[in-house]
Amino acid sequence: MTCLSTAEMLSCTACSLHTSRNLVVPGHGNPDADIAFVAEAPGFDEDMHGEPLIGPAGRRFDRHLAAVGLRREDCWLDNAVHCRPPDNRLRDYPDAQMRCPGLWLFPVLQQVKPKVVVAMGRTAGSLWFPGIDAHGLSELARYTAEYTVIGALHPSYALRLGGEWNDADDSIVASIRRARALVDEGVTWLPTSTLQA
Ligand code: URA
Repeated sequence: MTCLSTAEMLSCTACSLHTSRNLVVPGHGNPDADIAFVAEAPGFDEDMHGEPLIGPAGRRFDRHLAAVGLRREDCWLDNAVHCRPPDNRLRDYPDAQMRCPGLWLFPVLQQVKPKVVVAMGRTAGSLWFPGIDAHGLSELARYTAEYTVIGALHPSYALRLGGEWNDADDSIVASIRRARALVDEGVTWLPTSTLQA
C-alpha cells in the first residue's frame, strides 16, 4: 500500500483547512490500480490516522467492494479534499474545494493512471460533472483523455439511509460493477441498463 504523498503535500497550507486539521490525508492504495475511487473529504477517523475511508463510511464501502470481489488494496482511494473540514462541513470551506483537487488529486491521478475513476457523491462528482445533483450521479459517465469517469452515490449516504443493507448500497455496488466492466471489457462507455444483475 502506498500513498504517493510528498513532504510538500503533508505540510500544505494552501487553504484554510490547514489550521484545523490533525493530519493531511493523502490518497492510498495500489499505485497501479485500474480503478480509482474519489470521495469527499476526511472525517474524524481519517484525520486521526491519515488514511482515506477508514471510518464508518469507509467500512460500509469495504462491504461494497467485497460484493464485487474487490479489496481496498486493489484500488486507489482518494478524496477531493485532503484535510478534514471542522464538523465535516465542507460547504463552509469553498477555498478548499477550489484549491485542493487541482493541487493534489488530479496530479496523483496522472501518476496512478487508472482506467476508470468512480466519483462518489456530489463533491467529487462536481469535479467532472459540474452542477450535478447527487441523485443523478449513478447514471453518468464521461470519457476524458486519461480515464473514464463514472458517478456513484457516496457510502455515507447508504449509512444515513440505515439498516443492514439498502437501495443506496445496491446502487453503489452497481456502480462498482460498472467500473469493473469498463476495465474488463476495455471500453470507455457502458449504459447502466446493460449492467443490471
Ligand atoms: N471518509 C473519507 O475519507 N472520505 C469521505 O468522503 C468520507 C469519509
